[in-house]
Amino acid sequence: MKVYKFGGASVRNADGVRNLVKIIGGERDLFIVVSAMGKTTNALERVFAGVQKADAQACAEEIAALRAYHAGIVEELWHGAARLPRVDELFARLERTVAEGGYRAEDAEAWYDRIVAFGELISTTIISEYLACAGIPNRWIDMRRALVTEQRHKDAEVDLRASAPLLRAEVEGREERIFVGQGFIGGAPDGTTTTLGREGSDYSAAVVAHILDAESMAVWKDVDGVLNADPKIFPDAVQIAELNYLDTIELAYSGAQIIHPRTIKPLQNKNIPLYVRPFGDKRKPGTVIRGVSAPVEVPILILKKDQVLLTIRSRDFSFVLEEKFAAIFSLLERFRIKTNLIHNSAVNLSLCVDDSWHIDQAVDALRREGFDVLKIGSMELLTVRGYTDELWQRYACGPQVFIRQATQSTVRIVRKEAKGER
Ligand code: ASP
Ligand code: MG
Repeated sequence: MKVYKFGGASVRNADGVRNLVKIIGGERDLFIVVSAMGKTTNALERVFAGVQKADAQACAEEIAALRAYHAGIVEELWHGAARLPRVDELFARLERTVAEGGYRAEDAEAWYDRIVAFGELISTTIISEYLACAGIPNRWIDMRRALVTEQRHKDAEVDLRASAPLLRAEVEGREERIFVGQGFIGGAPDGTTTTLGREGSDYSAAVVAHILDAESMAVWKDVDGVLNADPKIFPDAVQIAELNYLDTIELAYSGAQIIHPRTIKPLQNKNIPLYVRPFGDKRKPGTVIRGVSAPVEVPILILKKDQVLLTIRSRDFSFVLEEKFAAIFSLLERFRIKTNLIHNSAVNLSLCVDDSWHIDQAVDALRREGFDVLKIGSMELLTVRGYTDELWQRYACGPQVFIRQATQSTVRIVRKEAKGER
């Protein structure tokens, strides 16, 4: 079995779906994991925002636009003739979910998951039907029943042990040898829908590869492979042919947009190679990620945006590492704040964290616990692996740098968000 993952950008229009069929080519024994088409997840997030504000009109408009967008793709694929009753039914269910009311702020995350999950349910339904039409028998898998996650919404982790028998039962002994499943979604033990965090389809695919002991996994993307920097920000970016799991997990964690950070572990645990390949040209080799690789010869630059710098000090001047570390982190964990960099002095703890829904609540809670907290928003975290003198001068010495942390090979810089040229 091989696992292929197609992201939203790849299947954003009819040409993309047709290209997906080309990429599948003659492959069989294939599990395809697909994201929501184009920017559908963003639109569904706006539907959710409409539900939060009880703005029925905004919800209706967003859903109407999504319906038209998907209908356009379906019409082009089937040359005008088609309505797909299963897709109609999904849109009707989305409308019922939104109209039903009963939204409660305490359950915001569960509501979010119920709504945004429709993107993947719709995309996989269209793709499964189109494959069948193109003479490729396949089985559509409802990943809400195949992947059991923890009982946590919006950023759930998959329970591999609980999921394995369910997913295997969906696949084993079936006549079809191509399977189509949604990325990004799963089901909690209480039966509600969960999601795995934005861009989580890579992680879904890795979980599938792990459970089914796949020989390899490929992520088909709109770039030629893994680059040493984001070309939109750093114009001299070059492609890297090979990476090992360890470097990749570090890069993903630092904010490289190559792959969702949770993707590597399930693959590493079973030594399954991961190919990052260009969707536009299947003859190009892309990048391979596996246990051992040739050393990377170029510096790697990763920029993680939407950061907040928290500087925390105990009002009674206790030593922060010796006495307060555990209290601070258990509080941050309660609000699910993701910490990306830690810097301390005797009484100060500076944390660079992801900006998130709950950041202000976390700051309030820290203040109630007896800490002074300074919060600075609009920050970014730049990681440079394998830095040179020139890169050090250029990035670590800028005027907007608040923190720089360096080892012999890597420097991490917390700085005010810059715009345009860097
Ligand atoms: N559709 C989801 C998102 O846009 C998941 C994914 O694309 O991986 O975040
Ligand atoms: Mg996406």
